[in-house]
Order: sequence, then structure tokens, then C-alpha cells
Amino acid sequence: MAKELKHCSFCGMEASAASPMIAGTEGHICEACVILASQVVSSWGKKKELNEMQGALPKPMEIKAKLDQYVIGQDLAKEILSVAVYNHYKRLRQESAKSGGLGGEQNVEIGKSNILMIGPSGTGKTLLASTLAKIVGVPFAVADATTLTQAGYVGDDVENILVRLLDVADGQVSKAEWGIVYIDEVDKIARSPEQPFGARDVSGEGVQQALLRLVEGAQVKVSVKGRRKDHSGSDTVTVDTHNILFIAGGAFPTLEKHVEKRLAPPRSAIGFHAELNNPDEKPSLEALLNATQPDDLKKFGLIPEFIGRFPVLAPLGPLDVDALIQVLTEPKNALVKQYQQLFAFDQVQLEFTQDALVEIAEQAIERNTGARGLRSIMENVLRRVMFEAPSQGNVERCVVNAEAIRGVAPIEVITCPEAAAPEAVDAAGLLVSGG
Ligand code: ADP
Repeated sequence: MAKELKHCSFCGMEASAASPMIAGTEGHICEACVILASQVVSSWGKKKELNEMQGALPKPMEIKAKLDQYVIGQDLAKEILSVAVYNHYKRLRQESAKSGGLGGEQNVEIGKSNILMIGPSGTGKTLLASTLAKIVGVPFAVADATTLTQAGYVGDDVENILVRLLDVADGQVSKAEWGIVYIDEVDKIARSPEQPFGARDVSGEGVQQALLRLVEGAQVKVSVKGRRKDHSGSDTVTVDTHNILFIAGGAFPTLEKHVEKRLAPPRSAIGFHAELNNPDEKPSLEALLNATQPDDLKKFGLIPEFIGRFPVLAPLGPLDVDALIQVLTEPKNALVKQYQQLFAFDQVQLEFTQDALVEIAEQAIERNTGARGLRSIMENVLRRVMFEAPSQGNVERCVVNAEAIRGVAPIEVITCPEAAAPEAVDAAGLLVSGG
């Protein structure tokens, strides 16, 4: 009896050694149709998930109120970011409606608004970006621009940013495709002024060039070798970056000088060392950064194409003593609260006097690292009691004042006389008298 030839019930292709078929109860399916069907099904899932997320998308004022719980000050940046993120995900909804055949008549195409945050180090740029991602519930990845190099050179290729985003999204391409990527230290990839014109600048301008395509929106092939694979089992996946929100950040030291120069050009070239401005009227750093124009960024060393990909600018100001004290005490996971919790595990109450908080803030300002320096100051000051108190066993309260922060006096340790120190207990658990 002649063997009946198998055909794919979807595309009609004939079975052969090179194209085997999967048999069903009524028919067969070839490999190409399995892959196609899987893509169709995952696009359904994507649309459904997007709609679910959009349903819960908070309004700009709600986003800002949530940011206020974690980030101190920076009201202008918070407002700009809240609006930008809200608009970004609204735009996604429009795109998804279009691709779903709903509201396809809309003829206004809304462009992507990537954000560039400009402000000194340790003022909350990374914190703002990561908190935003938490609020809208999308995958979030951080990349350091200084580790990136142009493809083909030693260092991280820009595509690796997407690998990280995919990891956070549990390997789900559709989820990663509307995530948020924060690129830190973009000021460090400015073209260096010493670089002769036309010279190859693989870690500066070269990286800006490499990032362009990613940030603008492209189909990027990403290697997932050794990682969780998608259903097709291939070693590369294609990630569409059109809907990924890119937030770049950097300290841009001396950028304000370019802005200031543009805003107040020398009135006359006559006279040596002429004072152009009354120092009392000097605008704040945040105000100057807020007045940044693309031209100032170009003078700083960013290429016009790169600047053009980040149409929303968000300035951040330095944190003063009051703001740093708030950082220490107010956010949900404020440092003081964290250390108090650590001490509470040993039944020790930890207190900071107001002047101690002021001293910590002032030391952080001296270090010029913004809020980033706070933890190491606290860690240094508290190290000795954290070393001794758990073994003493009878410590009830520790009070930290300004002298203790300055290192001129120890932290006041209040003990409870009735409690026995663990060292006073012998191996059998019996109390032994000291001496
Ligand atoms: P950068 O601006 O350099 O990206 P980060 O956001 O990484 O600074 O801040 C470093 C740390 O300092 C954060 O983890 C956070 O604990 C603290 N911090 C900085 N700025 C703020 C702020 N405005 N409000 C609350 N905490 C802050």
C-alpha cells in the first residue's frame, strides 16, 4: 500500500526529512507555522497586558504624589517626568488601539519623548527613574554609559542594555518592549574637547552614535545565548525599541557656564575682569540647568542627533542641608529608619539628635557627593556600636549627637542593669559571676 504523504494543514507544505511535521488528531503542522502561530499568540498577550496596564496607569498628579513618597525635593523634575511618562504610556495605548484595528482613523502620530535628566551626582536621578518604573509597573534596567563602547571594541555593546532589560522582564520580549531604560553618566560620553576633529572616539562620540538607533526605535537583534529562551528556541531574539522609554542622566559639570554665557553675553569687551553680574543675583544651578537649550548641550560635546533624541529636559538641583535631613528621615526607606530597624532586631533603640542630622548633612555637602555620601558617613559613625552592642546584650538605647558624628565623643550607650550580657552565660546556659 502506498504511504500517504503528509502535508502541513496550515500552509500545505509537504513533509520531508528536512521539514518534519507535528501530528495532531486531524492534521499536521510544520515548524514554520508553529513559529508564526507562536508570534501571533504572543502579540495577543501583549495587547491584553498593555490594556490591563493602561487601565491602571496613574495620572501625572498621582505619579508625582507617589514619587514624593520616595524622592525629596526636585519638584520640577518630578512634574516633567510625571507628564512625560504618562504621555508615553498614553501613546502606547494609541499604538495598540491602532494595531488592534480600534481607532485606526487617528492620523496624528505622537512621537516618542525620551527624557534627559541633568543635575549633580547623588541628587536622585537614578532613584527617580527606578521609582517611576515601579509606579507604572514596567521592567526597568540601568546602564552605565561609561562602560559602553562602539560595537566591535572592547567593552559593553549598546545591545547589552536590552539583554539586561530582557532579564528583568523574565525573558519576555513583549514585556521588555515597553520597559524603561535609564542610561547613567551620559555626560561622560560627550566628545572630548582634546579629541582632534575626525579622530575615532570609540567611547565618546562612537557610543552616542551607537545609541542613536536604539533610542530612536529599531528592531534590534539581541543574543540570548545561555539565557532563558523564547518558545522558538533560537539564540537571538528581536527586540523592538520603539516603545521603550529611554531616560538619560548626567551631572554635566560646567554645563551651566555655557547656559549662563548664552543668557548673559558680555555687554562690552572693554575693561579687564569686568564684573558682569552682581553675585547676589546669580540664578540657582537648577534655574540655569532649566534654561538649557540644545545648543548648550552641543557645546558640552553631545552630537546634535543624540540631543534630538531626548526632547524632554528635566533639571535637578543640589540638595541643601534641610533636603539632606529630609532624605535621612522622611522617605519610606530613609537611612535613619533602616538603621533603626537594624538596631531594633537586637532590641536596641537608636536615636539621632537634630544637631547630629545637621552634622551628617553638612559632611555630605563637603564631600560633594549629594545624598550618596550619607550612607558611608552613617556606617562609619555607627560601626563601633554595631560591633559591640549585640555581644553586650544589655544595651537599651544608643543616642547619636553631633560630637559623635564629628568623632570627638563616643555614641551615648544606655544599658539596662537587669539584663545579663551573653558573655556572662557559660556553655551550660548558667549565669556565671564576673571577675
Ligand atoms: P544620581 O543623581 O547620581 O543618580 P541617585 O539617585 O543614585 O543619584 O542617589 C543615590 C542615593 O541617594 C539614592 O539611592 C537615595 O538613597 C539617595 N538620594 C539621592 N537623592 C535623593 C532624593 N532627592 N530624595 C531621596 N533620596 C535621595
